Amino acid sequence: MAVLSEIDYRPNVLPLLINGEWLKSDSTESLPIFNPATGDVISKVPLATKAELDRAVESAHEAFQKWKEISVPDRVQYLFRMKYLFEERSEELARINTQNHGKTIMESRGDVRRTIDNIESAISAAYVLMKGANLDQVSEGIDESTVKEPLGVFGIICPFNFPLMVPFWFVPYAIALGCTVIVKPSEITPLPITYVADLITKEVKLPPGVINLVHGAKETVDAIISHPKVKGVTFVGSTPVGRHVYKLAGEHGKRAIVQGGAKNSILVMPDASIDLATESCLASAFGNAGQRCLAGSNIIVTEKAHDSLMRKLTKDAKAIKVGNGLNETTQMGPLVSKRAKERVSQYIHHGISEGARAVVDGRSLKVNQNGFFLGPTVLDEVTPEMRTAKEEIFGPLASVVRVRNLDEAIDFVNTSTNYGNAASIFTKDGRNAREFRRRVLAGNIGINIGVAAPLAYFPFGGMRDSFFGVLHGQVDSVDFFTDRKVIMSRW
Ligand code: NAD
Repeated sequence: MAVLSEIDYRPNVLPLLINGEWLKSDSTESLPIFNPATGDVISKVPLATKAELDRAVESAHEAFQKWKEISVPDRVQYLFRMKYLFEERSEELARINTQNHGKTIMESRGDVRRTIDNIESAISAAYVLMKGANLDQVSEGIDESTVKEPLGVFGIICPFNFPLMVPFWFVPYAIALGCTVIVKPSEITPLPITYVADLITKEVKLPPGVINLVHGAKETVDAIISHPKVKGVTFVGSTPVGRHVYKLAGEHGKRAIVQGGAKNSILVMPDASIDLATESCLASAFGNAGQRCLAGSNIIVTEKAHDSLMRKLTKDAKAIKVGNGLNETTQMGPLVSKRAKERVSQYIHHGISEGARAVVDGRSLKVNQNGFFLGPTVLDEVTPEMRTAKEEIFGPLASVVRVRNLDEAIDFVNTSTNYGNAASIFTKDGRNAREFRRRVLAGNIGINIGVAAPLAYFPFGGMRDSFFGVLHGQVDSVDFFTDRKVIMSRW
């Protein structure tokens, strides 16, 4: 834990990383950072000033001039070092992720693995996908080729729910390709990336300014997007904020990848394995305490499968062990904040007053009084017009909706909400699966898989109101961070 104590942020205000140095912000405004399992304030996050953001962009801009000139094999050596360092320190990374977010230690270990996967994928992208193309003799004595060049400084704006993994959907690709970055973590969960940035600075010894870290909220995000030396931004977060980011980026002529909110459905057909479907529905709806953009929060079940699914789902949901995520036997951690707990509790209340039936009610759970705990909730008899079926709740609340057949289920998925991040089907019939995959308006489809999370070397992005832009996250971002030149030559 040497690095942790060297930053010495607890319970101080987190520093900013600008040009390879940790600086205390001049800002007089800061927000508390909580451990959601205990309700304790564990640090504070500053809202960086405009002058600090300007310094960070200047440092990234200067660093870019040299970084892009370093050979590709030399650049990726830094990523190899990062990968091995993260593997060595994976347990520390997982623990700090859990302490700030609340998710279980097993879930945090998964986040660290996916973070490392993206470093590996970025290394191969630098060698393979950064290559241009060539065609000799497009006309007599004339050859034509394309080269890809890194564009410059990018802002990486992150949500609270995957404080480590989401920044790494973009950062390793940007730097492997020769760009430099300003990372703006969520003000709710900024600790893991601050810790990681310190590890990288001290042990990977990236040249100063290649990765900068600036804390803040709306004003900082807007300042990043509108800064003339920032070429573009990646944003992962809620749809209303994403829409604002995409619009502002457009107004300033910037590139943007915007991954927004979600309301995902899981369909259980009568021919499905009820054991597999139940286990997957529970993992999807309650994993990460439901705070996942791929959470299957609407469980759509055909009449014939309803009773058998509900019997097992109710029994198993009640048995989920909720507690401090650092405890190895905990199966679900707290929500990220008191506000989030209150918001989800309100949705349960609304659902019941609109006519849904609570077969499991998480509000009755008693754990640590000061932590932000809410148990798993299952509402049955939810109908398409209810708010609980339509809106992103982002908590451990599963709504069960009955349908007569596949057509009605697909219609529900496509019309009950405008989100289109993910949808899954559980069936043993290939024709059902094929119809579902072709007709459902969602970017990530699971077939007998409850959380269809694309691996690092596939694009990550949704459709409709869950995504704004063209290129997606992870490996797709190679073409986002680079531009192409076409060269025609005659000798
Ligand atoms: P959020 O939209 O509240 O915040 C995201 C980021 O935007 C944060 O860094 C925050 O500081 C900043 N921000 C907040 N309000 C802003 C404003 N008005 N103007 C400019 N910037 C602003 O999201 P969150 O609550 O941190 O994260 C949860 C959301 O993220 C959920 O909607 C979830 O579905 C979504 N999400 C989507 C994906 C995906 O791949 N589609 C992945 C993870 C999370």
